[in-house]
Amino acid sequence: MKIPYLERQPADVIHRYQSRKLRELLHYLQANSPYYRRVFAARNVDIDLIHTVDDLVYLPVTTKEDLQQHNADFQCVPRKEIIDFVNTSGTLGRPVTFGLTDNDLDRLAYNEFLSFTTAGATAGDVFQLMVTMDKRFMAGMAYFLGARKMGAGIIRAGNGLPGMQWNTIMELRPDILIAVPSFLLKMLEYATAHGIDPNTTSVSKVICVGENIRNAGFSLNALGERIVSKWDVALHSTYAATEMGAAFTECAAGQGGHHQPELLIAEILDDQDQPVPEGQPGELTITTLGITGMPLLRFKTGDICTRHTAPCSCGRHTQRIGPVLGRKKQMIKLKGTTLYPSAIFDVLNRMEFVKEYVVEVFNNELDTDEVVLHIHCGDTRNETAAAIKQHLQAALRVTPQIKFASAEEIRALQASVSLRKLTQFIDRRTQTPVLV
Ligand SMILES: [Zn+2]
Repeated sequence: MKIPYLERQPADVIHRYQSRKLRELLHYLQANSPYYRRVFAARNVDIDLIHTVDDLVYLPVTTKEDLQQHNADFQCVPRKEIIDFVNTSGTLGRPVTFGLTDNDLDRLAYNEFLSFTTAGATAGDVFQLMVTMDKRFMAGMAYFLGARKMGAGIIRAGNGLPGMQWNTIMELRPDILIAVPSFLLKMLEYATAHGIDPNTTSVSKVICVGENIRNAGFSLNALGERIVSKWDVALHSTYAATEMGAAFTECAAGQGGHHQPELLIAEILDDQDQPVPEGQPGELTITTLGITGMPLLRFKTGDICTRHTAPCSCGRHTQRIGPVLGRKKQMIKLKGTTLYPSAIFDVLNRMEFVKEYVVEVFNNELDTDEVVLHIHCGDTRNETAAAIKQHLQAALRVTPQIKFASAEEIRALQASVSLRKLTQFIDRRTQTPVLV
C-alpha cells in the first residue's frame, strides 16, 4: 500500500494543510459546539485571528475535567445523528460519553486502516483481535473497522484465555495479533506448559496496545525483550485514546508512533500550555480534525511523551511520538528523583521470578512521595527482597519498600481500586505532583 501523499510531504506542506483544517474546525466549533462557543465568548477569542497551527497557543486548552463537567455541551450534532456511543474508561473520576456519527465511524476506520498500513499490514493478512469488542470501548471496534476497510481477515477472539487464543491461532492461522503485550507473556507461559512452540505458528507480527514495549531511546524494554526472546515476531507499538479517535503507530523502523496529520494536530506542552523543545518530555495535547460528533480543541491527554521530527526511513515525513513515559498525574517524586511507574514496571519485568506486582504510592508526613511495592513471587526470603532493591537502586537510584504478597492479595489490592481493569499502579496521594 502506498503511503498517503500528505505523509510524504515536507513539514511545511503538512503545516499548511493542518492550518487550513484548524481554521475549518474553529468555524465548525463556533457554529455547532455549545461548550466552545461559550468558552470563546468568555475569553474573547476571535477565531478569525487564528491563521496557522502556530497560533494555537492563543487558544484555550481542554482538560479531562472540562469534558467531565460539560460532557453534553461538547456534542456538536443532534442525538439522532449519533450512531455509536462509547465512553472513556473513567479511571480518574466520571467516565465521559462520546457520540460518533456516521462520518466519525468512517474516520475511525480510515485512521486504523492507515495505522495498520504503517505497521506493514496488507489486505491479504488475517488479524486476531485479542481485545474487548463491546462494553462501549472504542478500540476493539476501531480495529475491526480498520481491518474491514483494509480488506483483511478478522478473527474476533476477544480478550483473555490463553488456551482459547492458541486454539484459535492453530485453527485459523492469523498473521497478525492485536494484543496487550503483558498478556503475550501469559500466552507464552501457557505455551511452555502445554508443549506449544510459538515459532511454528502462523503469527509473524503483533500490534501491541495499551502498554509500552520500548524505552525512551526506542530499544525494546524488558516486556518487549521477554516476548521476542521466546517468540520470533515483529512488535509494533500503537498508542491511542478515545478522545482523539486516532492512533500513533510504529512502522518497521520502530522509532516512535507516526502522527496522522489528516486526523490530528499534536502539540507537546508544559504546565503553562506552552510547547516544549523537541526531544523534551511534555504533555501530549491534541486537536481533532474531521470529527463531527464531539471534536476537541487542544485536549490535554495527561500522557507525557516526546516528539521526534527527523524524517523516518519508511518514507514518512510525519512527526513521531516516543513511548509514553507515564501519565502526568502518576509522576512520582522520590527522594529527589522524578520517575514514572512505567520505569519501576520495567525493572520488575526484567526479573522473571517476579510473577505479579502492584506499585502503591502515598504522601508521607513530609509531603513527599512514599512507594510500596507489593510483589508476588515464589520466593519471599530477605535475600530476594535485597536483590530486588539492588536492581531498583542500580536502574533508578531509588529503593522503595517491598512487601511480599500472595496472588490473591494482589488481586484484592487491585479490586480495591478498579473492577474494570487489573491495575498495576495505585495512587493514594492527596496531592498530585507538578511537571517541571
Ligand atoms: Zn517510519
